[in-house]
Amino acid sequence: MPDEEPLDTGRCAACRQTFEFDPRTVETVLIDPQTTLPPGMTVLGSLRPATPEAVARSTDEPICPKCLSRARQFEATTESPPKWGTWP
Ligand SMILES: [Zn+2]
Repeated sequence: MPDEEPLDTGRCAACRQTFEFDPRTVETVLIDPQTTLPPGMTVLGSLRPATPEAVARSTDEPICPKCLSRARQFEATTESPPKWGTWP
C-alpha cells in the first residue's frame, strides 16, 4: 500500500464549497439539515435551545480549511470558546 492520504470530497458545512479532505483528520460540525445550521441556531444567528429532534436529525459535516481558519480568527478576536456558526 502506498502511504498516500486517503482523500474524500464533500461540501463544506459553512460555505457549501466542494473540497477534498482526509476523513480521519477533518474538522466536522453538527448541522441540522432542515436549517443547514447547527442545532439551536436560527437563520438570524441568534441562539435558541436545541430540540432533541433537531440534534437527532443533525449530521456531522466537514468544514473546509478556509472556514476553519476564519472561525479560529473569530474565536481569537472574541476570546470566546469555539462555537460554530456565531461568526458574522
Ligand atoms: Zn468552507
